Amino acid sequence: MSGCHSKQCGLGSDDLSFLPEDIRRKVENHPCYSQEAHHFYARMHVAVAPACNIQCNYCNRKYDCANESRPGVVSELLTPEEAAKKVLAVAMEIPQLTVVGIAGPGDPLANPERTFRTFELIKEKAPDIKLCLSTNGLVLDKYINKIKDLEIDHVTITINAVSVDTASKIYPWIFYNHRRYRDKEAAKILLEKQYEGLQACVENGILVKVNTVFVPEINGEEIPELSKKVRSMGAFLHNIMPYVEGEGTAFSKAGIRPPTPQELKEMQEKCEGNMNLMRHCRQCRADAIGLLGEDRGQEFTKDKLSKININYDPNWRKQIHEEIEKEREKLRKARELLFGETENEGPKVLVAVASKGNMLVNEHFGTAKEFLIYEVSAKGAKFIHHRKVTPYCHGSISCLEGENILEDTIAKLSDCKAIIAAKIGFEPRDVLKQRNIDCVDEFAYLSIDEALARYYKKYVLKEEVPVGTNGG
Ligand code: SF4
Repeated sequence: MSGCHSKQCGLGSDDLSFLPEDIRRKVENHPCYSQEAHHFYARMHVAVAPACNIQCNYCNRKYDCANESRPGVVSELLTPEEAAKKVLAVAMEIPQLTVVGIAGPGDPLANPERTFRTFELIKEKAPDIKLCLSTNGLVLDKYINKIKDLEIDHVTITINAVSVDTASKIYPWIFYNHRRYRDKEAAKILLEKQYEGLQACVENGILVKVNTVFVPEINGEEIPELSKKVRSMGAFLHNIMPYVEGEGTAFSKAGIRPPTPQELKEMQEKCEGNMNLMRHCRQCRADAIGLLGEDRGQEFTKDKLSKININYDPNWRKQIHEEIEKEREKLRKARELLFGETENEGPKVLVAVASKGNMLVNEHFGTAKEFLIYEVSAKGAKFIHHRKVTPYCHGSISCLEGENILEDTIAKLSDCKAIIAAKIGFEPRDVLKQRNIDCVDEFAYLSIDEALARYYKKYVLKEEVPVGTNGG
């Protein structure tokens, strides 16, 4: 069950046609499994699983900050009943929601009653929603029948190592079969169980995404081998995520550094030949809600939910999804026309795009919280990854703060040849021009594909580009 043939991106639209029908249906509107779908469909995590059965040196579940965005962090813990109610409320408020996952804040399978009760309630009340589970894999094989019975079709296993030596630098202890194990003994058991869990999922037709936290000094050498191994075992997708420094973690205290965007890109390129890579992961909080990259969790707090009456309407949601699919189809057809067949690849350039979703250039430079980075050549545009930034236009900030934020954003985008946004103000435009970065807002509200194609032809190849409408 290995995925697509293309290396273009995570799982872009074109790739899905290579998949068997049953698998295509599982991934086509899943924002994490299909790179294209993540522009249109939303996901939510419900935080019902507080306990964890292992310790990772990059994790500190006590730390909760509204601006923090990484797995393991939540604002409110929910009971299964509260979680199911929240899912129905979100699904009606954000009809693009197609996927509910349980990812913590601990390990879902270290809290089996709470986790499976939540899934049972959601399956009963909203059977049109896909169910996902993220786990460290320690007890995955034990629950495989339950996972299958509940039709949890997507399981993510975080696997960070191949060798016991490397794993023992990441995991100081595990709690398994009523006993605590430490150091290499712990690492050995965990690795065995993770790979057994992966195998059990594959044998049962469950799609597996393997997440790997890339910590250059710790597991950087081993990740290409890991990627090969999980592919050979039948994992569907590999998601190499940068280690995010968290306050109070062992790695943070030891001064272990995260990878640079360039290191991440290089690692992804090294592994790309091995298997399908997810490049659009946002390392969401364990209670994240919305399109990837946005978090609308604060709109659905327990307090607010207690005042909401919910009439779950799957037919209405279906109609909305059909509209989205029509839009996707239009964009797909347009995309085929944009970059014509050519032998000559031309120069490859990196371009940063500001988007709020729907695959459009619809975000201003100053309000963007992230940029989507594409590598563009005469043959097409390939999504590389996103880079988070602090919005430059931020009501109450002082000039000096604004300058610092702008400098920080420019440093993060310094390897890009251009920034394409719906609007770029005079001030940043001047600074960006001085750094030889093209500022392009003439393609506002076009599809990202069309904007990139037009940019490449006009600015890189210096060709005449006729004015057109979206997809034209
Ligand atoms: S953490 Fe990554 S894989 Fe999980 S929901 Fe967010 S984007 Fe998807």
